Amino acid sequence: MHTLDSRFEGSWINGSSFAGNGDPWEVINPADSSVVATLTLATPADVAYAVESAHMAFQTWSRTVPAERSALLHALARRLEERAEEYVLVESAQTGKPFRLCREFDIPGSIDNVSYFAGIARNAEGKASTEWVSNINSSIRREPIGVIGSIAPWNYPLQMAMWKVLPAIAAGNTIVLKPAELTPLTALMLAQDCTHVGFPDGVVNVVTGSGPLAGEALVSHPEVAMVSFTGSTKVGKRVMELATAGIKRVHLELGGKAPFIVFADANLEAAIHGAVAGSLINSGQDCTAATRAYVHESLFADFVTGVNELFAQICVGDPQLDSTDIGPLVSIAQRDRVHGFVERARSQGATVHVGGESPSEKPDGVEGGAFYPPTLLTGVGQHWEIVQEEIFGPVLVVLPFNSIEEGLALANDTPYGLAASAWTQSVVISERAQREINAGTVWINDHIPIMSEMPHGGFGGSGFGKDMSTYSLEEYTRIKHVAVDVTGEVKKDWHRTIFRDNFPEA
Ligand code: NAD
Repeated sequence: MHTLDSRFEGSWINGSSFAGNGDPWEVINPADSSVVATLTLATPADVAYAVESAHMAFQTWSRTVPAERSALLHALARRLEERAEEYVLVESAQTGKPFRLCREFDIPGSIDNVSYFAGIARNAEGKASTEWVSNINSSIRREPIGVIGSIAPWNYPLQMAMWKVLPAIAAGNTIVLKPAELTPLTALMLAQDCTHVGFPDGVVNVVTGSGPLAGEALVSHPEVAMVSFTGSTKVGKRVMELATAGIKRVHLELGGKAPFIVFADANLEAAIHGAVAGSLINSGQDCTAATRAYVHESLFADFVTGVNELFAQICVGDPQLDSTDIGPLVSIAQRDRVHGFVERARSQGATVHVGGESPSEKPDGVEGGAFYPPTLLTGVGQHWEIVQEEIFGPVLVVLPFNSIEEGLALANDTPYGLAASAWTQSVVISERAQREINAGTVWINDHIPIMSEMPHGGFGGSGFGKDMSTYSLEEYTRIKHVAVDVTGEVKKDWHRTIFRDNFPEA
C-alpha cells in the first residue's frame, strides 16, 4: 500500500506544514487496517493560529483582481493533473475506494472543479447600476466575506475539500478547512499544491483535528466570518448553533436518504441497472446514493429479482484490483454501524435477499478490512429506521406503491431532501415528479451524475446552501449597496422631511 512521505505532520498553515500540538493520530487504510500516515492533531490553539494566518492573508488576497485568482486556479488544475496518480493512490489508501472510482470519478471530477472555478472567478453578475430614486445612482458591490471556516466529511475527501475551498478562494476569501480526521491526506496535498503554484501563504489552510475540539474551535472563532459544513445532520445542527451564537453566515450540506421511484411505465432494465449503480457507488457512502427504491406493484417482483441478481455479481474486494467493483467502508466502526441497521431490520421481520452477512466474513484474499456486501431488503415499513435514517453503506430497501400519488408521497416522507430520482417514460409523470419531489436534485431516468456547472445542495434536514456552480460562488460573497448622489447639491429634495421649506442658509 502507498504510504505518504513525511512532509505532512498534521496541518498546513500559512504556507507550511505544521505539526499540531494535540494527540498523535494514525490514518488507517480500511482495506487492510494498515497505517497510511501518522500525524499530530491540531488543538484549539493551533486552529486559532490557522485562523489568524487566514485573517492576515485576507487583507491582501481580498484585493486581488479576479484574473489573478483565476490564473492561480488554472495553475492548480495543471498541478493536479501532473500529480493525478499520486492523488489516486492516497485517496484510495485513506478511504478504501477502488482505484477505478478514484481514477474515473474523484480525481478527474476534482480537477474539473478547479478548472471550472478558474473560469467563473472572472464572472460577477448582478443588477444594473441605475437611478432607482432621482439623482442617486445605485450600484452593487460584490465582495468577499472574510475568513471561511469549513468542515468536511470523509466520504469524498478531495471532492468535498474542493467544493469548500474553490468557491471561497475564487471569490477572494481565505479559508481554514478541517477535513474529517479519518481522511485528511488529500486535503493536505491540495493545500500543499496551492502553496506550490503560488497562492499566497495563509490563503488556504488545512487543520487536521477532531470535530469536538478543532471543529468547534474553528466554528466559534470570532475571526471566522462564514461557516460552511458538509457532514451529518446531527453535527450540522451543532455547527449551526455555534455559528448562530457568533452571527456568522452558515452553509450546510447535510445527510440524505434519496428515494428512487420506479413508475409503472418505466424501462425496468434501466431502472434495475440504475438502482445497482446508484446504491453501490462508493460502497453506498454517498449522500445522494439511492437508498429507498419505491417500485410500482406491477414491477415490484421483477425489480427485486433483477437487483438481487446483479448485487450477487458485484465484486467486493481489494481496491487496487481492476476486477473490484466496491471496496470496504471507511472504517470498522462504519461497517458495524451499517450492519446494525440491517440486523435491527431483520429482527423486525425484513427479508434480506442478498448480503447482510456477518461482517467478520471477508472477501476472498483480503484480510483485516472493513468490507460489507451489497445488501437488499424488502418487507420493511415506511417508518422503520432503515427507511427513515441515513445508513451510508451498500444497502438498498425496496417498497411497493400502487399510484403516482402514493409513490411521490412516500418519496417525500423523510426529514431529508437532498436528491431523488424518478423512472418513467411519460412526460407528464416526469414533469409531476420534478415539481412535487422535495429534493435539491431530481434525476429523471438516472441517479448520481453531478457536474461542476450545476448546484448541489438540499432542503429540510439536508441543509441549505449550494456547492459547485455559480450559485456557490455567490454564497461566498456579500452584497453591498452603494448609493451615490449625482447632483453635488447641498440641499437635497428629500431634506424637506427635516427642514420643511425652512432650509437654513449655508
Ligand atoms: P460527521 O457529521 O460525523 O462529520 C463531518 C465533519 O464534522 C468531520 O470533519 C468531523 O470531524 C466534524 N465534526 C464532528 N463533530 C463536530 C463538532 N461537534 N463540531 C464541529 N465539527 C464536528 O459526518 P461524516 O460521518 O464525516 O460524513 C458523512 C455525512 O456527511 C453523511 O451524513 C453524509 O450524508 C454527509 N454528506 C453530505 C454531503 C452533501 O453534499 N449534502 C456530501 C457528503 C457527505
